[in-house]
Amino acid sequence: QQRVVIIGAGIVGVNVADELVQRGWKNITVVEQGPLHLPGGSTSHAPGLVFQINASKTMTTFAKYTVEKLLSIEKDGQRCFNQVGGLEVATTPERMDELKRKHGYASSWGIEANLISAGACLKIYPALNKDLVLGGLHIPSDGLALAARATQLLIERTREAGVRYLPSTPVTGIERSNGQVTSVETPNGTVPADLIISCAGFWGVEIGAMVGLQVPLLPLAHQYAKTTALPGLKGRTLNNNINGMNAELPILRHQDQDLYYREHGDQYGIGYYGHRPMPVNPATLGLTPKHVDEKSMPSRLNFTPKDFETAWTESQKLLPALKDTHIADGFNGIFSFTPDGGPIVGRAPNLEGFYVAEAVWVTHSAGVARAMAELLTTGRSETDLAECEITRFEEIQLSSAYVNETSQQNFVEIYDIIHPLEPKQSPRHLRISPFNVRQKELGAYFLEVGGWERPFWYEANAELLRYLPASWKPVERDAWSAKHYSPISAAEAWKTRNAVAMYDMTSFHRFEVSGPGACHLLQRLTTSDVATKPGSITYTLLLDEQGGIRSDIFVSRLDEDAYQIGANTAIDFAYLNRQAKFQCKQSPSKWVQVREITGSTCCIGLWGPRSRDVITTVSTDDFSNKGLPYFQVKKAHISGIPVTAFRKSYVGELGWEIQTSAEYGLRLWDVIMQVGKLHGIVAAGRAAFNALRLEKGYRTCGADMTTEHTPYEAGVTSAIETSKKDDFVGKAALQRLSKQPARRLRSLTIDDGTSMILGKEPVFYNGKAVGYITTAAFSFTVGAPIAYAWLPSSVCEGTNVEVEYFGRRIPATVIPNPLYDPQNSRQLD
Ligand code: FAD
Repeated sequence: QQRVVIIGAGIVGVNVADELVQRGWKNITVVEQGPLHLPGGSTSHAPGLVFQINASKTMTTFAKYTVEKLLSIEKDGQRCFNQVGGLEVATTPERMDELKRKHGYASSWGIEANLISAGACLKIYPALNKDLVLGGLHIPSDGLALAARATQLLIERTREAGVRYLPSTPVTGIERSNGQVTSVETPNGTVPADLIISCAGFWGVEIGAMVGLQVPLLPLAHQYAKTTALPGLKGRTLNNNINGMNAELPILRHQDQDLYYREHGDQYGIGYYGHRPMPVNPATLGLTPKHVDEKSMPSRLNFTPKDFETAWTESQKLLPALKDTHIADGFNGIFSFTPDGGPIVGRAPNLEGFYVAEAVWVTHSAGVARAMAELLTTGRSETDLAECEITRFEEIQLSSAYVNETSQQNFVEIYDIIHPLEPKQSPRHLRISPFNVRQKELGAYFLEVGGWERPFWYEANAELLRYLPASWKPVERDAWSAKHYSPISAAEAWKTRNAVAMYDMTSFHRFEVSGPGACHLLQRLTTSDVATKPGSITYTLLLDEQGGIRSDIFVSRLDEDAYQIGANTAIDFAYLNRQAKFQCKQSPSKWVQVREITGSTCCIGLWGPRSRDVITTVSTDDFSNKGLPYFQVKKAHISGIPVTAFRKSYVGELGWEIQTSAEYGLRLWDVIMQVGKLHGIVAAGRAAFNALRLEKGYRTCGADMTTEHTPYEAGVTSAIETSKKDDFVGKAALQRLSKQPARRLRSLTIDDGTSMILGKEPVFYNGKAVGYITTAAFSFTVGAPIAYAWLPSSVCEGTNVEVEYFGRRIPATVIPNPLYDPQNSRQLD
């Protein structure tokens, strides 16, 4: 039995202990620097509002489980969750629209929520100002977590099951040997450990630093205040005031003013995110004192009334009865913020046996803990962790400057209405491809991902709209779907299908896998036989042990001992790198190394029926079908520039991905552009790219399919080599899994041919929500918006369904895919 040490007895740490106990694990020690009855972290003062609905399916799943679990924890009549419901009100039309979208997420992720009128809001919540509220979203299963109580009950329950707690014991160091944790150091001696899970909340950065791990979170103070008693509420009998749960009205959000509310008996509690960000350096907080009480704990700083002035004025506007009260008590409470708002969960990439579960709200605590326990006991979480993975960040995103700026921005924007494509305003221009200077000259509209500036379209192509054939004319879009969109992308798509276009593919991850064990590693991890001849490209999958799709990658064999991988995220790199290190340790003769080459190289996708005319003008190498067949790679020269040409295309047209090292990039762009002009070339952006890849039937891993899906469900079985002799991760599971799954990734078209959708909307069949959209775009081949959707297998091709967009049901039809060139003749040309 492995010896487990959990650092921190907040709501996350004790939940992890409990989830492990439930899975039969023993030998667990929880080390906590504070006293156990009130450890003094964020949990010790959390007001505990649990609003479950989130744009992220993963986070909503975590919240849903937390509610279920807290409802089930009870001892001697003591309960931990007061299911008063949640009400989010809109005081602006924009917020009302946002609530409509949120209602869509609720239906997509399986939570009951009701869009209600202003009158209905007042019925549920009579204290609201009727002149201010336009409507609301009511979620009956939301409520109040009594986080401190839940923590105590879980400590009791896990202690009875044998978990050892070491209170008032700070972890001061972590001992390692041979790349593996061995124990934690404390002033009272060391505690041996095979597995360490850091659940240290906003102290996580300090614990990470003990093992050289950058944990990208920033502690920030957030204001919470309690009013004096409301005269109208004094002495009332609460219907469900079980054990002082002290509230009967729904928890309330007034996001237009960055505010939230709960009742504390006859007082109100008010939380505020509208003040200036107040970052805190946890090192300045000192060690947790022996004595901690409600008013005095390390995570609680003095209230700064000036920062609360607007909150107080706006609160009195929304809830006029507050005018008869004043602020009785307030504090600036500390908790964690991250660059993208997600938690930090998973296995450290640099150290075996070290795990992290931090920057987690009470709302998601039990869900995250369950995922962590699943990861530890079975090697995978049932819920997809891509949005939480500690390894999801690019190197540049781990710098403290980046974490500081973006986490503070995240605090500022926490209740803002954010478009799914909304880029960060700052920091920008962190990573630019060598083509950037030319892209700017062409009026590129840049959006940002992973620090990369990526053109979505080029204003220079606007004049093409005049020549666009009638069937390619883009449809009018509503204001939301028109954000970060331009009809110019239609012209770029048209050029790609009918002439030739060049796409900047630099930001796609590229890794080099080399060494005598390279083939063995990739054979062990992928679903295809990659022991192919040098020069071949394979589209394949990385699965987990249960057959869930970790990622889809392109494996190009460049040489006997050298492969190049085209991958999706930094998570893929961390996974391959860890597996490579493991292999080197296990069998030194099968030595292998994985190297990130994304930034040192650049890549142009040269695609379209006239792409061969262009490439043969600038190169004397053989780019014929025979000289470089489909899914083959070779070294070549373009106007003297050494390149690697990959015969593949994401958009479904003839062409190549042409890669060179960064220093040649600009020249490569210029040479291709200059010659390409004779053949009608344009630079094209990601908006066109996304529409073309979707109608061609290519999936985007992470959006269309995740670890929660199997290849049979996602329809990517062509990436599995059934006759492959070697064992690979997920092979046994594939043999077990049903080839007739209960759900499938399907394609849809919108019947009216014009109503755009963006992704994550619920899909209804016979009036019932049965699935959800993953990604969507306008297809010019079909002349209508198209999308992928997860649906029950019974909702088969030809079925009429409806998609909810802004509360409106839009008729759609399930159709076969791919929609474009199913025979693949365009690429084989
Ligand atoms: P913590 O509760 O901070 O636990 C971490 C523990 O690790 C601490 O007890 C600490 O003492 C211990 N520790 C740290 N370093 C060491 C060490 N070196 N050795 C030993 N032990 C160590 N969330 C919601 O979901 N809903 C809300 O309404 C809500 N409101 C909030 C309002 C305020 C004012 C604040 C500040 C936060 C709020 N949150 C809310 C956030 C929520 O409180 C936290 O995200 C959550 O409690 C974090 O739990 P945790 O277990 O990760 O961290």
